[in-house]
Amino acid sequence: MNPDTKRLLIEAVKDQQEIFGDFLFEDVSKYKKDSPDEKSSYSKSEKVEIEMSNNLFQEDFQKAESLKELNSMICECQKCTLGKTRTKFVFGVGDPKAGAMLIGEAPGHDEDLQGEPFVGRAGKLLNDILKAVNFKREEVYIANILKCRPPNNRDPQPLEMDTCIPYLHKQIELINPKIILCLGRVAANGLLNKKLSLGALRENIYDFNDIKVLVTYHPAALLRNPNWKRGCWEDIKKFRKLYDELNAK
Ligand code: URA
Repeated sequence: MNPDTKRLLIEAVKDQQEIFGDFLFEDVSKYKKDSPDEKSSYSKSEKVEIEMSNNLFQEDFQKAESLKELNSMICECQKCTLGKTRTKFVFGVGDPKAGAMLIGEAPGHDEDLQGEPFVGRAGKLLNDILKAVNFKREEVYIANILKCRPPNNRDPQPLEMDTCIPYLHKQIELINPKIILCLGRVAANGLLNKKLSLGALRENIYDFNDIKVLVTYHPAALLRNPNWKRGCWEDIKKFRKLYDELNAK
């Protein structure tokens, strides 16, 4: 098959997977209750408690007292094979005291070269999405589930996610945002430790260790499917409204 056709086919299947989760690829009955066809109440809330760092086998990085210190402790990480293939470690960017945090999946080609999350085409769209609800990129904090680029932008593997997520947990602990927006299914399932479709994830407001979490489309998926921008617009308005309400308290 022509490599361009193959790439387009893979992207189209990934987009379907983004929305419908794995239930197109696996036993449907398992995912029935997460079907995106269910009526969206869009205001269900669910508490998610995750043990972030205070365990007996604390690693040194868990003692970091600032993002700068944390970055310096983990930026040479070689815990998984992505350490060998990355160009730059992509820690995160933004206001260390941000009230709002955005979490993506993993660095892509441009992020790997520049060492900053969301700087490619998807990043430009993300900046526009933020601007549409009066957020400047510098006033939020942006990070990814994985700090290193998976080769050829393949999906993060479970072991890579399990290895890297404690770094994100520590970032969240240090920033202590009031609200988090997860960009896409992989980011949301990774943070919330779930296996749901994007349709199901978007219906909920999660309470993750007392931080509100909303989920929307990944900007790269929006670039391929502009008709999903409408849903994203609804999500981002809700995100801004909740952020304002939490700040007013
Ligand atoms: N996609 C992501 O999920 N994160 C980035 O930093 C860039 C693209």
